[in-house]
Amino acid sequence: MSSENSSDDVRQVWDVVVVGAGPAGAGAAYAAAVTGRRVLLLEKADLPRYKTCGGGIIGPTRDSLPPGFELPLRDRVNAVTFTLDGRYGRTRRSKHMLFGLVNRPEFDQRLVEHAQKAGAELRTGATVSRVEQHGPAVPDRRTAAVVLSSGETLLARTVVGADGSASRIGAHVGVKMDQVDLGLEAEIPVPSTVAEDWAGRVLIDWGPLPGSYGWVFPKGDTLTVGVISARGEGAATKRYLEDFVARLGLSGFEPSVSSGHLTRCRADDSPLSRGRVLVCGDAAGLLEPWTREGISFALRSGRLAGEWAVRIAEATDAVDARRQALNYAFAVKAGLGVEMAVGRRLYGVFSRRPGVFHAALTGFRPAWKAFAQITRGSTSLGEIVRSHPVAKRALNAMER
Ligand SMILES: Cc1cc2nc3c(=O)[nH]c(=O)nc-3n(C[C@H](O)[C@H](O)[C@H](O)COP(=O)(O)OP(=O)(O)OC[C@H]3O[C@@H](n4cnc5c(N)ncnc54)[C@H](O)[C@@H]3O)c2cc1C
Repeated sequence: MSSENSSDDVRQVWDVVVVGAGPAGAGAAYAAAVTGRRVLLLEKADLPRYKTCGGGIIGPTRDSLPPGFELPLRDRVNAVTFTLDGRYGRTRRSKHMLFGLVNRPEFDQRLVEHAQKAGAELRTGATVSRVEQHGPAVPDRRTAAVVLSSGETLLARTVVGADGSASRIGAHVGVKMDQVDLGLEAEIPVPSTVAEDWAGRVLIDWGPLPGSYGWVFPKGDTLTVGVISARGEGAATKRYLEDFVARLGLSGFEPSVSSGHLTRCRADDSPLSRGRVLVCGDAAGLLEPWTREGISFALRSGRLAGEWAVRIAEATDAVDARRQALNYAFAVKAGLGVEMAVGRRLYGVFSRRPGVFHAALTGFRPAWKAFAQITRGSTSLGEIVRSHPVAKRALNAMER
């Protein structure tokens, strides 16, 4: 951290200020802090905070965790029951773990602690109202001002916006979204007899609304039950969740938490930076459009944002800073952007033909194997479509 002399005070300038302490923000703070830079992580909530999320940890998420981080797994999944709007149920099993399940408050807090151990400073209860890159709050062109709702202004060489799907920093950068969905979830404590029945097994239901699906993710004595569907169908999405819970015989158990959250996927041409400000995770609309898996996208883009934020902090002038910001955008698009493009295509087909997906996963062994490999992280959707001519042809055909 350096000091700026203004006429009547000495103001401190952080190398990197990260806004939002979810997986994207904690990942960015860690990546910047391990380089020895002065990093401040701002979070509006007190930690641990609740986040509406299934807490499904697939292979790519596990592979993107910072070194030395131990996953607080609540369950290990090796079986999936698939249903099509409650019917045609079939359970597929695997000898190996497919994916893990975490409680988000615990997982997120541990990630933040990991960033703190690397040297990042945390401030909770700090809501960011806006970022300014010009005007009286900004002492020079190598600095951005982060304004808190309390009126306090903090100075940074670089700002990383990781403030989730309703991001203020994303609005500053001009992030554009092209798919917005509503997720509804209930955390349902259940007796041990019911919990035992679900241990190690999840249920995925391809839903009645276009592009919708539901899930049961067991976490010991609590089941996370949720559904997701396009925004604008709020009443129908709520009905889907109620019917889903009733069908599973879980209506008699009182949820400890019921909540909703929007997910937003970025438009392909949406910016990822503006001046000295980068966005990552949900704030940038980075998540898989078909499954709406977002933790791995948050961790991967967060790490890149943290690494590039350090380079921007060191940039000698605006041209250099811009070059580093463009490098960040390029790195994100080359990896996550390619995966999102395939996910968007699958989402389009799935929205029109959920029955085909169900039939493939339950009745066609290669499709189940691909699902298992993707969740384990030994391949990705993009890789399958790129390297398997049959998968490529099948996707092309279904798009027609
Ligand atoms: C119903 C549902 C189920 C899901 N299930 C899964 C799943 O099983 N697996 C998976 O991988 N993904 C899942 N996702 C997606 C996943 O939850 C998100 O993609 C992920 O949380 C994104 O992480 P993030 O760090 O970008 O944002 P968040 O986790 O949303 O973190 C943003 C943080 O910023 C803080 N913040 C916001 N505004 C401000 C401000 N102005 N000032 C300071 N702090 C601020 C918030 O309090 C929050 O802590 C699901 C999403 C939904 C809606």
